[in-house]
Amino acid sequence: MKIKSYNFRFNLIISYLLIVLVSFGTISFFLDRNLEENLLKDIKSSLVNQAYLIENQILPENLRKENTAYLDSLVKILGPKIQCRITLVNHQGDVLADSQETREEVLEMENHANRSEIRSALFGKTGEEIRYSSTLKINMLYIALPVKGAGDEIIGAVRLSLPLASIQKMLLSVRKTVFLSFLLALGLAFVLSLVLTNRIARPINRIIHASRKFSQGDFSHKIFSDSKDEIGELADTLNAMAQNLEDKIKEVEIKNQHLVAILECMVEGIIVVDKTSRIISVNPTVGKIFNVTKQEAQGKLFLEVIRNTDIRDIISSVLENGQFISRELSLLWPVQRIFSIDASAIFEDNTVNGCLLVIHDITEIRRLETMRRDFVANVSHELKTPLTSIKGFVETLLEGALDDKENNRVFLKIIQDHTERLDNLVNDLLSLSHLESRTIVLQKSDFKLRQQVEEIILGFKSQIQKNSIEIRDDLPAGLSVRGDKNRLGQVLTNLIDNAIKFNKEKGSIRIYVQEISGMIKITVEDSGAGIPEKDIPRIFERFYRVDKARSRELGGTGLGLSIVKHIVELHGGEVGVESAEGLGSKFFFTLPA
Ligand code: ADP
Repeated sequence: MKIKSYNFRFNLIISYLLIVLVSFGTISFFLDRNLEENLLKDIKSSLVNQAYLIENQILPENLRKENTAYLDSLVKILGPKIQCRITLVNHQGDVLADSQETREEVLEMENHANRSEIRSALFGKTGEEIRYSSTLKINMLYIALPVKGAGDEIIGAVRLSLPLASIQKMLLSVRKTVFLSFLLALGLAFVLSLVLTNRIARPINRIIHASRKFSQGDFSHKIFSDSKDEIGELADTLNAMAQNLEDKIKEVEIKNQHLVAILECMVEGIIVVDKTSRIISVNPTVGKIFNVTKQEAQGKLFLEVIRNTDIRDIISSVLENGQFISRELSLLWPVQRIFSIDASAIFEDNTVNGCLLVIHDITEIRRLETMRRDFVANVSHELKTPLTSIKGFVETLLEGALDDKENNRVFLKIIQDHTERLDNLVNDLLSLSHLESRTIVLQKSDFKLRQQVEEIILGFKSQIQKNSIEIRDDLPAGLSVRGDKNRLGQVLTNLIDNAIKFNKEKGSIRIYVQEISGMIKITVEDSGAGIPEKDIPRIFERFYRVDKARSRELGGTGLGLSIVKHIVELHGGEVGVESAEGLGSKFFFTLPA
């Protein structure tokens, strides 16, 4: 870039010098020509005047051949004075005297009648010619005037000649002066152009330097300019442009940051591909779903990163038709989930240039829908069973069994049991819906856990005795917990109830507590039948029972553990179970210590 600036200065300097050269050259050329012409004109007229003076000195009788002594002495005196060669000829062209020849030499000189200047003079005109003198071997200027007699007849001619060398010498000296002043002008022009171009190049260099900074994205750089000319205006405009660009870029950056923040926070997965199905960008949710990083995905073909041909087909279709597609897909890999996929085309100049995919994980929504459906089905079923029985026995009684003294009480007892079941079921359902409503407020207080457990065990006394179950309460006497005493009582009741119900005869139950990283863990361990491994993950679901018939027979509703889970979670704790079939179960829950 620096070289370019030097080139610019070099060109400017050359231009300046060329202007000086051309203008000076033209002036010199015309000056020189004019000078030469004028000089020659002046010399000629001065020679003519001198010739007139000489002609006046000559009397007609002097122009005779035998009288040349006078003429000879005249030309020899005047010649050196006027610094010219003077030649006198008679009307026949014979040379009578010459200021630069002796009289003897004059006699030997050839006739001059043929010399053009002499011929003109002998015709009464002023003759002039520039000719190479074979006598003197140089270019000479000849001026000849007629010499007239008394009756105005031409009796001879006087010729003055001057070597042109002297004119050339004068011209040379003038040219030398012109040339020297030309060199001086050139030198001055060079120095001046250096100063001037420097003045021009400096702000231009500043502009070049700033433009380079701008192109590198540094818009904070400002071009300093104190001039009010076009370059100053250019600098101001560039500064304004840079400021404008900086503002615009900042604006775009902020918008971009907002967009990135939105994309990063979105629960939906976002994938943008170009028209060749190459991934341009993905958000972190996509990374989580498909187990890829943004860096791994960017620039690769969709199928290379996400090996799902269903989504690939959706992309291909959008890229081909430009039409919005919304579809629900079940993915088995990398995780088994249900996604709702919305794909729309990205247009540029009315042609499809890419595709935007919005992937929404609807597994949870679908799961909740299924749960709701199952719940309604379960509730209906649970209600229907006792209701059918009640209805059946009421009909039997009405149809005459009421008078059957032996069985009517048995039938009424069955109706009572089913009504109780219905009551239990409705109570459990109400508890559950109350616990799930989120409007529930816990009545928290500190209470002694052991005392609470002992009271509950007392409530199950008859069942414990009936099944000969040994129950061991290993809770420390002074252990106090904070929580809703009634609801935690319900938790313990349900767990102890199950431990009794699903225990074997002469089985055992142990209740103990452990403290684990800031939480207390309360466990109800029994020696019952245990829970098959496949059922364990679902055991806390509503209406989930390992053995439905047995549970019903024991008066269970299938909602007990579900209620336990809700209450414990409301207290900030967790529930869990460890169980092995045939070896018993350990149901536990934690509470903040
Ligand atoms: P319910 O006891 O009314 O049937 P729960 O929600 O309390 O309902 O329990 C759900 C199911 O979990 C029970 O039907 C039973 O199959 C199983 N279960 C619960 N506690 C135990 C336990 N201590 N031992 C074996 N199975 C149990």
